Amino acid sequence: MTVKEIIKKDPEGLIAQAYKLSQKAHAGQKRKTGEPFFIHPLAVADILVSWNMDEETVVAGLLHDIIEDTKTSKEELTKQFGKEIIFLVDGVSKLGKIKYQGVASNISAHAKVENLRKMILALSEDLRVIFVKLADRLHNMKTLAALPAIKQKRIALETEEIYATLAYRLGMQNLSGELHDLSFPFLYPKENEWLLNHIPEKYEARKEYLEKLLPKIKSSLQKHEIEWDSMDFRAKRYSSLYHKLLRHDMDVDKIYDLVAMRIIVKSVSDCYAALGVIHELFPPLPGRIKDYIAMPKPNGYRSLHTTVIAESNKFVEFQIRTEEMHRDNENGIAAHWLYEQKKKGGGNPKKEELSKELSWVEQLRNWQEKYENSTTDPEAFLHAMKIDFFKDRIFVITPKGEVLDLPVGSTPVDFAYHIHTTIGNTCVGAKVNGSFVSLDHELRSGDIVEILIQKNKLPSEDWLKFVKTDGARDKIRVAISQKKTSLTGRRIATNTDLKLIVQDRFGLLKEVTDTVTRSHVNIRHIQTIHQAGNQFPVLKLQCQTTDKEKISRLILKLKKIKGVREITYTLT
Ligand code: MN
Repeated sequence: MTVKEIIKKDPEGLIAQAYKLSQKAHAGQKRKTGEPFFIHPLAVADILVSWNMDEETVVAGLLHDIIEDTKTSKEELTKQFGKEIIFLVDGVSKLGKIKYQGVASNISAHAKVENLRKMILALSEDLRVIFVKLADRLHNMKTLAALPAIKQKRIALETEEIYATLAYRLGMQNLSGELHDLSFPFLYPKENEWLLNHIPEKYEARKEYLEKLLPKIKSSLQKHEIEWDSMDFRAKRYSSLYHKLLRHDMDVDKIYDLVAMRIIVKSVSDCYAALGVIHELFPPLPGRIKDYIAMPKPNGYRSLHTTVIAESNKFVEFQIRTEEMHRDNENGIAAHWLYEQKKKGGGNPKKEELSKELSWVEQLRNWQEKYENSTTDPEAFLHAMKIDFFKDRIFVITPKGEVLDLPVGSTPVDFAYHIHTTIGNTCVGAKVNGSFVSLDHELRSGDIVEILIQKNKLPSEDWLKFVKTDGARDKIRVAISQKKTSLTGRRIATNTDLKLIVQDRFGLLKEVTDTVTRSHVNIRHIQTIHQAGNQFPVLKLQCQTTDKEKISRLILKLKKIKGVREITYTLT
């Protein structure tokens, strides 16, 4: 099915309406490829249809670039398509604002990736936002060659590290692999060339070899009365092949699953029966039998895998699974929720049902498990993945596309202090998603927050009543107490009294006064005090300044004068 076919069937439906509106709104716009812009939202919608997405999601796909790139207003769209769809469209626009910079940025790449993942998760109160974004990214990656080189690299890196990973974790194996493959040539151009020169031939040879095995396998399955739906070959993707080759001295012959044979059977018991048949035909390689049916991968992948020693002593990997497993493996969560909904006989799944069906919490646990067993900084990830943590945090975006996480209930003031103390102290106003808000406005996940500052402004005591973070509260208190001292300072203190304990000698006093004068400090009064019982006299200078920095520089200089033993000062 395609969007155009759907429209033919239902020319008045929401999809048809969205098609018309999007086509009109984007009219005249061109993509970097030179094609009319509209082919992009249409392609995105077609991808969503191919994933069996519901009507709302397909509509969101058609409209996803409308708020950002055209004059159509959100209000207009809401009127025609309803809040739910606009929520999806809006979510996609927000995700689009995040610019992943990878290692090049000043915060650690790891922190940045995690931030983004958290952000993406937070936005996915409705996972369909992610589906649209993934479809958007998939199509953009297919036309990435049209962009300038520097952009290609950034987008490819973002795709590799964020979206492909995300797709994998959502169990969308197919998409994840495709995204990896699409980014690969941009991230590893030389390696890609090497693969192009060395692999296609090998793929072909492998396929030919496997095709020759087919009759033998088919007749054996028939003999055991095992029905199969299909048998095909799965060529290993370049991106994952490359990573595997690195571990095998770039020796392609050591990659057993360069091309794997995939058998789709009718039932779970047929899976095991077929595995038995294969093992009867060819001896299995010890340690290579994997039962992902009994023990699915953390992302939900189910299948039986085995590597056998086939004709001419060649290793062959077999993957055996049912149709349902296959569909779930390829499309993951996307396939799953729709299937469940259809089974129930319901129409389009509602948002609340969706989140239940997705067992989102379970997914998070799976991720956590996976990371516990992996080597990628498990501590940071575990921390980030704590369910509670997610519940109590929001993720907001700076105008530069950085993601900050803050506790629920945080305000622009918390945000400002989180960026920098000075920004907090001098903050006078805030814009959220482009509109002015009050400083006590409660921020929400996905908000894009911009802080307006005014130099030399000081925080207000009232802020303490609404800020949420301890960091902001502490900094406000410090700034206020400094403000009070400096205010009282200005009112009363105009002078600084220096007390020097000296070992008097000829010329000392002159040296002291010269030093003070050279520091551009006026001396209002000098007094030498001889205290009874004290071996050394005290030289008291009243200086006409309260400038702390000036005073401390002066004190340093005075201390160098021979005979000066100790200096204290007070503001008067
Ligand atoms: Mn787009």
